Amino acid sequence: MSDQAAAGIYPPSSDFAANAHVNAELYATMYAASVADPAAFWAEHGKRIDWIRDYTKVKNSSFDYGNVSIKWFEDGTLNVSANCIDRHMVQRANQTAIIWEPDDPAKPARHITYAELLEQTSRMANVLKAHGVGKGDRVVLYLPMIPEAAYAMLACARIGAIHSVVFAGFSPDSLASRINDCQAKAVITADFAPRGGKKTALKANTDKALFDCSDKIKCLVVKHTGDQTSWVQDRDIDLLAEMAAAKPYCPYVEMGAEDPLFILYTSGSTGRPKGVVHTSGGYLVYASMTHQITFDYHDGDVFWCTADVGWVTGHSYIIYGPLANGATTLMFEGVPTYPDAGRFWAVCEKHKVSQFYTAPTAIRSLMGLGADWVERYDLSSLKLLGTVGEPINPEAWNWYNTHVGKGTRPIVDTFWQTETGGHMLTPLPGATDAKPGSATKPFFGVQPVVLDASTAAIQAETAAEGVLCIADSWPGQMRTLWGDHERFQEAYFSQYKGYYFTGDGCRRDADGDYWITGRVDDVINVSGHRMGTAEVESALVAHEKVAEAAVVGYPHEIKGQGIYAYVTLMNGIEPTDSLRKELEAWVRTEIGPIAKPDLIQWAPGLPKTRSGKIMRRILRKIAENDHGSLGDTSTLADPSVVDDLVANRMNRG
Ligand code: ATP
Ligand code: MG
Repeated sequence: MSDQAAAGIYPPSSDFAANAHVNAELYATMYAASVADPAAFWAEHGKRIDWIRDYTKVKNSSFDYGNVSIKWFEDGTLNVSANCIDRHMVQRANQTAIIWEPDDPAKPARHITYAELLEQTSRMANVLKAHGVGKGDRVVLYLPMIPEAAYAMLACARIGAIHSVVFAGFSPDSLASRINDCQAKAVITADFAPRGGKKTALKANTDKALFDCSDKIKCLVVKHTGDQTSWVQDRDIDLLAEMAAAKPYCPYVEMGAEDPLFILYTSGSTGRPKGVVHTSGGYLVYASMTHQITFDYHDGDVFWCTADVGWVTGHSYIIYGPLANGATTLMFEGVPTYPDAGRFWAVCEKHKVSQFYTAPTAIRSLMGLGADWVERYDLSSLKLLGTVGEPINPEAWNWYNTHVGKGTRPIVDTFWQTETGGHMLTPLPGATDAKPGSATKPFFGVQPVVLDASTAAIQAETAAEGVLCIADSWPGQMRTLWGDHERFQEAYFSQYKGYYFTGDGCRRDADGDYWITGRVDDVINVSGHRMGTAEVESALVAHEKVAEAAVVGYPHEIKGQGIYAYVTLMNGIEPTDSLRKELEAWVRTEIGPIAKPDLIQWAPGLPKTRSGKIMRRILRKIAENDHGSLGDTSTLADPSVVDDLVANRMNRG
């Protein structure tokens, strides 16, 4: 180990930096330019996509509470689908745009060229048009991770319809509430969604959801598995059959830069999901630029983001960013542990993946199953690794670095949100010294500020701690909440006037690197000491017998708040009282006596959103012995884990 690695600093290798799009020097000059004159900077970088009519106005934004308004490239026109497909036809018609890897490894993978992507997207767009879907109409997508999901998103963009993707794992109720919230004209679904060897009955779920929706809504069904489903005459449409009969080309519609591209509901980790609205021009510029630069994507690379398209990560880094860049993007239908815990690495080997982007939760669960699964595969094609979704605890970072990256691949820890459209804080692999657990530095145009949580005072010193806000707009920023601009302003601009509030707490170290400490809602106050949940969780997970941990506060007579930890043990480890004591002592030495958990509950599973995030608000209710009112649990991946946690809760007072 080098001295720097021993100190927890991993500078880019000189080889990597030499070939990277951005090295340290360029980052410094470009970043300075991007914040000194954002309009001039983005006027230049807006040109990375194709415009039908060029923009003359670049930036027009206000973060003033009461008058929040965000516009980028507002007089420009474009079509996002044309940018992701048509403009590559001259150079890349026969290049693979999408590699599709099915759930069942025995089934053949598919390689879809840009020419095929154009044809299939066009056919689907023509079917949508034939059923009355046009510019500005909303279309809900409730699909497995299949190429048709990409065609559907791009087909909507092509004809100016606004898509809203709903995770295929969500219940009929959550689907219905989203269809109704955005008043969709059509739903695109499939018969079944195979995942991990099981099948979810999407069509049956959609039937149930549509009971609670307008009877005018059309239901377009992809017969994916071919299993029998019910069929409602005059409402249900056999999408693949109609695509086969449709015209193979569909002209694209000229859209304003500020016309909505999609609505996406947030994960719901902190409350009722919010219908985040992204528009066409700024979003695409930002998604494509972050994809190219953060992942250092070069022609010929195979990019794999393991997220579901129902999450913003899937929007920006499976579909829009990569395809706008003419990349080859991999789409995986399955799960990391099917048919076994080596699946991710088998897919990397099989398709010679260059960049691999996943979530800390996936890394931790695979870490719990042992490194042998990784070591079996040839991962020499990998050039870069990435993470997203929550702070990555150093333990998991080190495992990822050692076993997947073989100690030589840069790791980018990307902090961003549904609301931000693309990366906000991230190392650039050829430019930034990585530090396990830190999202390091801002991307171009992003102006982070650390404010004191209670006084809102700007923390001007480099080393600081507080809440993370952003001082000015960037092109990928959300524009509003669907139909509720009021809630938009309340949720993001009311707490710290003049700033976009991320909802996250952070620490900035003496090098100016940012460390996300968790959601501000989750901060625990123990005897007057404020503590981020991430810190205590990270300490727990650093123990060799712990696979996952979630920490919340609960009312405590003496301390104000006590620390309640939910701990999932590694495979095969017995939960015992002595282990509980061992963990208490461990946290005590790792962080300090103040952080010692008051209660530890063994948790066979944790309540997570489908994007893998722990729903701490539910854990907080259980810890507070207030489990009668758990709030909206519709976005949980597996609601049954909650019953076990309630039954075995530690605080019954
Ligand atoms: P809701 O807003 O409905 O509660 P959510 O915040 O979980 O849902 P997302 O937009 O998917 O929905 O998640 C964004 C959040 O994820 C960030 O605000 C942050 O808390 C966390 N996050 C994402 N990436 C990172 C990262 N690299 N490091 C630390 N935290 C991260
Ligand atoms: Mg959020």
